[in-house]
Amino acid sequence: MPAMIIFSVVEFMITMTHAYPFLSTEQKKELSDIAQRIVAAGKGILAADESTGSVAKRFQSINAENTEENRRLYRQLLFTADDRVGPCIGGVIFFHETLYQKTDDGKLFPQLVKEKGMVVGIKVDKGVVPLAGTNGETTTQGLDGLYERCAEYKKDGADFAKWRCVLKITPTTPSQLAIMENANVLARYASICQMHGIVPIVEPEILPDGDHDLQRCQYVTEKVLAAVYKALSDHHVYLEGTLLKPNMVTAGHSCPKKYNPHEIAMATVTALRRTVPPAVPGVTFLSGGQSEAEATINLNAINQCALHRPWALTFSFGRALQASALKAWGGKKENGKACQEEYIKRALNNSKASLGKFESSGEKGAAQESLFVADHAY
Ligand code: 13P
Repeated sequence: MPAMIIFSVVEFMITMTHAYPFLSTEQKKELSDIAQRIVAAGKGILAADESTGSVAKRFQSINAENTEENRRLYRQLLFTADDRVGPCIGGVIFFHETLYQKTDDGKLFPQLVKEKGMVVGIKVDKGVVPLAGTNGETTTQGLDGLYERCAEYKKDGADFAKWRCVLKITPTTPSQLAIMENANVLARYASICQMHGIVPIVEPEILPDGDHDLQRCQYVTEKVLAAVYKALSDHHVYLEGTLLKPNMVTAGHSCPKKYNPHEIAMATVTALRRTVPPAVPGVTFLSGGQSEAEATINLNAINQCALHRPWALTFSFGRALQASALKAWGGKKENGKACQEEYIKRALNNSKASLGKFESSGEKGAAQESLFVADHAY
């Protein structure tokens, strides 16, 4: 075929691939400003979006009854912690119920959190469902009506959202189907959020269940993240207005070999460098069943890693910010202050770790207890 014809065929194919811009310059600026505020230096996210079912399990461990009022009282303690948390927490993720709850003196929680300079987020997925024909793998549901729900949530004060997908490591998983399906549903969710001025946190969590080693987790993390960023590109998602919430790269919970924080940090940052574009402003790790102490030490090592890191690398912890606080509260009014002090301590430690400036004083006791939950649901 003559060169001219080949050239024009190629040119035609390139011009076939076009995007119809869906975000104005102002909309893009709003999204990227929100994302930057959440991951500003020294800040991370408090994930307080446990579904009512997940709270049931947490409350059971402290013998507290899982009532709407108890959930309100506990979260009120977190949200009213004193000004020491201000420089540590850039955003708070709410569960639907919490977004409409109020303080004892009648202030809506989102308003309270905003007045403290934190960005309000909302969990918008509706949990995992089985992916037929796979070895126990799942996809995440919640796209139906999401367009309308996002419009409502934005009106009610939410500026970012979270959607959690789950992948499992076994000798036969994650399957190509699970990787593609979960990447696509995350991208579809992200594009819907952005149309409403909501920054999507993209969370493809690879569970720590299993006896796989660090290298296998790194390999799988790279494959999953590469698929996620291809899907986000296919869906025209504006990366500057997103955040990634991945697992740290760790060995499986029952792997006989133990790895030190330096090895975990190298594996994690290497996987991110190979797959996450520098346009993404921040990576906010989930704690994934690590103990509070472990999660902080690993985050600190990640921020001390000698490799170039073009994104903010910080926390979006649920269990690793709340476990000691929950225990200290024990469902009792008189323990409110003790609960807040534990939460503030975790927030301060993780803030330092997000800057690579945490110095461990060798914590003992509860902070070292594993928070692993098999086949974790949120
Ligand atoms: P953990 O930090 O407890 O893993 O949870 C964070 C989260 O938001 C999971 O979706």
